[in-house]
Amino acid sequence: MTQPPDHCTAILTVDLEALVNNYRTLSAAAKTAECAAVVKADAYGVGMDRVAPSLANAGCKTFFVATLDEAIALRGLLPDAAIHMFNGLMPGMEKDLRAHRIVPVLNSLGEIDLWTHFCRWAEKRLPADIHMDTGMNRLGLPLKEQETLFKSLDRLDAIELDMVVSHLACADEIKHSMNREQLRAFEHIRAHIETGRASLANSSGIYLDSGYHFDVARPGCSLYGVNPRPEIPNPMSNVVRLQGRILQVRDVDRGMSVGYGATHEVEKDGKVATIAVGYADGYLRCLGNKAAVFFNDLKAPVVGRVSMDLITIDVTGIPENLLHPGALVDVIGPHNPIDSIAEKAGTIGYEILTSLGARYHRAYTGGVAPVL
Ligand SMILES: *Cc1c(COP(=O)(O)O)cnc(C)c1O
Repeated sequence: MTQPPDHCTAILTVDLEALVNNYRTLSAAAKTAECAAVVKADAYGVGMDRVAPSLANAGCKTFFVATLDEAIALRGLLPDAAIHMFNGLMPGMEKDLRAHRIVPVLNSLGEIDLWTHFCRWAEKRLPADIHMDTGMNRLGLPLKEQETLFKSLDRLDAIELDMVVSHLACADEIKHSMNREQLRAFEHIRAHIETGRASLANSSGIYLDSGYHFDVARPGCSLYGVNPRPEIPNPMSNVVRLQGRILQVRDVDRGMSVGYGATHEVEKDGKVATIAVGYADGYLRCLGNKAAVFFNDLKAPVVGRVSMDLITIDVTGIPENLLHPGALVDVIGPHNPIDSIAEKAGTIGYEILTSLGARYHRAYTGGVAPVL
């Protein structure tokens, strides 16, 4: 890796080799199911333009995004991949979907009829998935529409049905009764619609038993390092490292305060360093007085509130030679991975990832070269 330019005060390093390892781990765990990759929201904030070609190079053939813009951007990166779009079909999208060979995930009878209408007009059975709601009540055909569809399966005649999809609401809680209920509902659906492939499991769903695997698994977060099974040690490799530079170090005396609102009071004489990462970079403000950064394996707690562009850390006891302006500290890294930051912030790794800021210097290691 080339050294980041000295003027960059925060550096986000994405380890594409770790990403590919995670893909292989998930793919092996999914056993006989094909392992697709979910790269919506700019590959969870990590950078779709580098993530998608690296995964394709590792053998991934099927990708899921949320929106049409994401799908079209992905088509520009991967001319041959199968690209599926979760957010469904809105009137007016049809021609773009066809032109860019994007498979819409149809979420209602209305959307099925719209796609049917377009296929008839195009005189071609164009591929689509159907999303069946099995209890999440978010996207997909509600139960009533499913029953209507089962009684009028000829509705699908003009369509090339690729996948029947549903989504688990509680897959990260291995013992949650909703998992079995959704599985049963999905099996009931498959008994009525046997055409096409079936896809139910997200990252965590892969780690429920193999009854949840069906034909295609759709992991997202765990590709990027989030633990699919929070109750066990993380089987995934860390993909993201965020380093911030020290801008300034100062001595602080007992009784002084640090930062906005004077929320941190210095208890004994020591040192505070100011790091060039703040909430405008996705380092959530609620992490103030809670999280820590690391100098290699030496911990330095965040003291005071997180500012827009800055955090302040207690570096009392950190060796002097590490404490110069320009020195890098791990804000996210091996000792403070995405999941532990998320826990401290009272959120989930997904939100930490997708909040990663736009003004970091981004460096990618491993993987395949960018598509120009
Ligand atoms: C985002 C998403 C996924 C990926 O889920 P992860 O929990 O990130 O693995 C799979 N399926 C659907 C429908 C999604 O919206």
